[in-house]
Amino acid sequence: MSNRIYMDNHATTPMDQRVLDAMLPYFTEKYGNSGSRNHAFGWEAEAGVDQARERIAKLINAKPKEIIFTSGATESDNIALKSVVEFYREKGNHIITATTEHKAILDVCKSLERKGLAEVTYLPVDKQGLIDLDQLRAAITDKTILISIMHANNEIGVIQPIHEIGKIAKEKGVLFHSDATQGVGKVPVDVEAMGIDLMSFSGHKMYGPKGIGGLYVRARNPRVRLSPMIEGGGQERGMRSGTLNVPGIVGLGRACELAGEEMQEESARLLRLRERLRKALMDDLGDTYLNGHPTERLPGNLNISFEFVEGESLLMGLKDIAVSSGSACTSATLEPSYVLKALGVGDELAHTSIRFGLGRFNTEEEVDRVAERVVSEVTRLREMSPLYEMAKEGIDLKSYNWARD
Ligand SMILES: *Cc1c(COP(=O)(O)O)cnc(C)c1O
Repeated sequence: MSNRIYMDNHATTPMDQRVLDAMLPYFTEKYGNSGSRNHAFGWEAEAGVDQARERIAKLINAKPKEIIFTSGATESDNIALKSVVEFYREKGNHIITATTEHKAILDVCKSLERKGLAEVTYLPVDKQGLIDLDQLRAAITDKTILISIMHANNEIGVIQPIHEIGKIAKEKGVLFHSDATQGVGKVPVDVEAMGIDLMSFSGHKMYGPKGIGGLYVRARNPRVRLSPMIEGGGQERGMRSGTLNVPGIVGLGRACELAGEEMQEESARLLRLRERLRKALMDDLGDTYLNGHPTERLPGNLNISFEFVEGESLLMGLKDIAVSSGSACTSATLEPSYVLKALGVGDELAHTSIRFGLGRFNTEEEVDRVAERVVSEVTRLREMSPLYEMAKEGIDLKSYNWARD
């Protein structure tokens, strides 16, 4: 157990003990319903929620009342897209997004298209994973109601030019939503400076609890209006009914507070660790390729293709190390990552990629151990690979005539 290494912090993060400490009283002592206005149990819970709202707002430079609590970023993404489409349908039905978005955006877009509720433009990305701002500008029509472009990508860590996108959206009078689930708490995110009107984030991606997240909804300049998706008790200004998850909210608030206090130091440390890992892997092994922009990316993200090595086989050989491969098990087949495909990485190479997600609790010793294990495992697998042998003999695999007997 203790020999395991967790380096998959884009999938989820361990909860910080300090977050748990802040949450515990809200399960057993301060268990009131924050909506109970007529007794101290309710007031206590409400005070916890109010403090959390302030802490979250401070981290992203919003006002507390602009935060809507949800069950996580998937729900926030769903609300942002579906509620805008419903509320602004008189104005238009066109959404602009990108091909490398999280499924919580892409699948909602597909379903809106299927139901005939929206028309969607999917912007391509360049080899490094960035959208083209001129293409974005050109895609906007008088029917465009929403631009939804993620802040940092969950596979390749690439950070989009959010300030510029926000500026374009403002200029054209189009609302701008950003799925900032991977970025909030890791790098500075400022909804004012970035011109963001709606923004999704999640507790469990930033050392907080699972099952709690939020949606930032701009209150003025412009005031964003949403048709509620979940109706009932009228909580969260009617935009998201349901008794608030008070312990979760308190945890998310504490996680945001810690992130704000420690971000500068933590991001510098993670960048150092990531570069240490990247150098160790790429210097010691040939035929390795970095996926995604070399600098415009999250400090804790490293995504590398190890040519001639199946990512899944590599993962098997690294059983006690938690990382992710660039293949997704969709139904029974192994599909190469659509994000890597969007960057123009071929299927073959996409299948050889590994995502290393460094986080708050990773140490330099762990980085060195992971590097050592990956180098030895890649070397071992390549030694067993006929393709690798052919390539080393100078045979051009692309033009090689496989049909020859
Ligand atoms: C994890 C993630 C989500 C989904 O978040 P949940 O809180 O697990 O629903 C959405 N978008 C991005 C970019 C993510 O990384």
